[in-house]
Amino acid sequence: VSDFKPTTTMRAAVLHGIRDLVIEERRSPSAGPGEVLVKVSSVGICGSDVHYFEHGRIGDHVVESPMVLGHEAAGLIVAVGKGVTTERIGSRVALEPGIGCRQCSYCHQGRYNLCPDMRFFATPPIDGALCEYVVVPADHAYAVPDGMSDDAAALVEPLSVAIWADRTARLGAGSSVLIAGAGAIGLLVTQVAAALGATEIIVSDVDASRLELARSFGATAVLDATKPAEGLAVDAFIDCSGAPAAVRAGLPAVRPGGTVVLVGMGGDELTLPLSLLQRREINVTGTFRYANTWPTGIALASHGLVDLDGLVTGHVDLDHTRDAIVPDPSAGQVKMVVRPGE
Ligand SMILES: [Zn+2]
Ligand SMILES: [Zn+2]
Repeated sequence: VSDFKPTTTMRAAVLHGIRDLVIEERRSPSAGPGEVLVKVSSVGICGSDVHYFEHGRIGDHVVESPMVLGHEAAGLIVAVGKGVTTERIGSRVALEPGIGCRQCSYCHQGRYNLCPDMRFFATPPIDGALCEYVVVPADHAYAVPDGMSDDAAALVEPLSVAIWADRTARLGAGSSVLIAGAGAIGLLVTQVAAALGATEIIVSDVDASRLELARSFGATAVLDATKPAEGLAVDAFIDCSGAPAAVRAGLPAVRPGGTVVLVGMGGDELTLPLSLLQRREINVTGTFRYANTWPTGIALASHGLVDLDGLVTGHVDLDHTRDAIVPDPSAGQVKMVVRPGE
């Protein structure tokens, strides 16, 4: 069925401590019951990988022992465990990196992103996907069509963050939305908003070149984030910047009864204009990752409604992972991709 010969060791990008990333040999995983073994093809570098690299922690999640980074991954199924059909071998797949317990009330409700026992790639102490082989439950490996690139398959993960944000903001045909921050997530939120039929998509950022990108990805107007946004009355404001100043600047742009979704991660606390929120009955919420988004993400990307390859600004092999995590600040990077197979 498969001519795949399991290797006993593989190479992995392992974070040992702050700014201490080592490419080392590790034991190769093997697929247990219900699991598939995936040869990793592309891994997108995320802000959270950079944050763990720079600070060794994100909030309560602290890197206490060496951990493989990376959670935006795609690859090829090379072996399957007991109970999984061998027909899946040879399938190119996008990987969903968070595995709920499947037992708790949140998992039962389909809100598994809130599962207290979630195991998530590259969230301590769980190893991530910046390595040659990973194992996931078979239902977390979603087949992608031939026309979709490995990079695009990997980037269904950040696309999922955007889908979840736009769903939470209840965007639909004719919606108006203000999006703060035109990094990878903001640009994806912009594209998904357009795909959902939003007709007024205003993007703010401090960087003019990113605003140009936002226009090319569907923004109908762009704003300089350093200047107050005046005269707007949008249905939803989605912050993807994590910058307190951007959140405060965006709130007055929300119409009465509108929604604010805080996606960007910044400081732990934020001062909000309470009387404005009360008078306008504005609904403010956060988002935590996503749930049930991969089929939508693959459909949007494979039908050309969202351009994922267009976000990729560079590739490196596994040995050069560090260069992708600490990019040249003058290079205007949006999304770096590591190709562990090269
Ligand atoms: Zn990510
Ligand atoms: Zn659970």
